[in-house]
Amino acid sequence: MNREGRGATAPVTPLTPAPETFTGNRALDLEEGLIFEVGRPEVSGVDLPEPKGTAHRLGGLKRAAAPELPGLSEPEAMRHYVRLSRMNYGIDSGLFPLGSCTMKHNPRLNEKMARLEGFADVHPLQPLSTVQGALELMGELSRYLLALTGMAAVALPPKAGAHGELTGMMAIKAAHLAKGSTRHIVLVPESAHGTNPATAALIGYQVKAIPARPDGTVDAQTVRDALTPEVAALMLTNPNTCGLFERDIVEIAAAVHEAGAYFYCDGANFNAILGKVRVADLGVDAMHINLHKTFSTPHGGGGPGAGPVVLSPALAPFAPVPALVARDGTLTLVEEKGAAGAEQALGRMSAFHGQMGMFVRALAWMLSHGADGMRQASEDAVLSANYVRASLMDLMTAPFAERPAMHEALFDDTWLAGTGISTLDVAKALIDEGYHPMTVYFPLVVHGAMLIEPTESESKASLDLFIGALRDLAMAAKAGDKERFLGAPHYAPRRRLDETRAARTPVLRWVKPAPLSEAAE
Ligand SMILES: *Cc1c(COP(=O)(O)O)cnc(C)c1O
Repeated sequence: MNREGRGATAPVTPLTPAPETFTGNRALDLEEGLIFEVGRPEVSGVDLPEPKGTAHRLGGLKRAAAPELPGLSEPEAMRHYVRLSRMNYGIDSGLFPLGSCTMKHNPRLNEKMARLEGFADVHPLQPLSTVQGALELMGELSRYLLALTGMAAVALPPKAGAHGELTGMMAIKAAHLAKGSTRHIVLVPESAHGTNPATAALIGYQVKAIPARPDGTVDAQTVRDALTPEVAALMLTNPNTCGLFERDIVEIAAAVHEAGAYFYCDGANFNAILGKVRVADLGVDAMHINLHKTFSTPHGGGGPGAGPVVLSPALAPFAPVPALVARDGTLTLVEEKGAAGAEQALGRMSAFHGQMGMFVRALAWMLSHGADGMRQASEDAVLSANYVRASLMDLMTAPFAERPAMHEALFDDTWLAGTGISTLDVAKALIDEGYHPMTVYFPLVVHGAMLIEPTESESKASLDLFIGALRDLAMAAKAGDKERFLGAPHYAPRRRLDETRAARTPVLRWVKPAPLSEAAE
């Protein structure tokens, strides 16, 4: 499909370049400054009378001048945050093609359940006898996660996938220490997500990279060759970040165990195999599950995520506290490491039991899908990814395309050779088409990678429109329309930003500009 396909019946009048506006607004795209820029210290949304007959007790510590906090009237405060929210792109505004990160629809039913007051208004320090229903929900979610993975235990506290990775790897370290082993190497394939080596390094392991074979997967023999007596664990993602199922995973797991090491599986891509494969059957010892990916809970602005980690019988005793256990018909949380039910616990990973609101949403999704529905969700996700890949392969180059893709479609930048246009330019031009860019330059094993994960929750119509936009861009790139790319995004409120500089030298403090009179001196 191309632009002609979108009902363009009237002849298009060529437009003159848009003039600058006085306000900086572009029609309904409203400009908004920082709260320090739009607020005034003297303004407040509330107007309380001075309290009478009270003496302050601050002595000489009382402020001489009011703090320079920005103030806004109530309507201004409302507009400030609504305007900011409209600058954001979210799964509720359009298809979110990020690869690796499974951005799927967050059903409103989940939100409704999470807002039930019995779930929304509980406090983590409430007596356990008053929150039995909430604990039961956590127990039920655990039961589902264990049934779906075939594993022996699950720890719900971790607050993100990376936090789950850390928990799982700490359980592996605890298991080695319990045996008196001081193994210090963790094997991580080159295609791994950055959190894998970061997790291993954070807890003191030395990371050794495992190369992939030309077909994008890990070879059991390569792993076997790297398995020295110093190796504590292998961290492997399945399906991997090239969107491929690791065919030799059972053989790899066996080799890892034979060498006395543990097998950590990065479960961020569980959405592709949900209800199809039980990871316990693959020989996995620990795996995190991103509830905000596979189980449709919102990612939010970088959170709140939830990354429960499932453990094999060998690692189950090392699960963190608090541990949820049933005693004499009541559910209880074992809070102390070393207490009955948590004798060998690795310790505590978060203040309380985890992200309750996300547990409710994830279980709501599971219950509304049922076993057959969850299986179909993963089948549809895989079908969508293959449809996207097949629909673009004549224009864009897809490595490892001899095999069907799992949940995501991977392209490299070979198709851009000689155009003077890069992967980054394509991503920016996609913003002009009204999409959040796909994941770019990851996985690192593919040059100029573009990774697209459409998920099961997109209709064929929305996939077709997205494919149409990318096809149109690909044809424009090949036709030499550099202008469309190098200056992109043309229509966004902010244009090309220096992202590297923003990340390396972030400006985190607003500094009040000097008044004009001083600046002139
Ligand atoms: C998302 C992701 C992670 C990290 O999960 P977070 O919830 O973002 O911390 C780890 N590995 C892979 C492959 C991922 O896609």
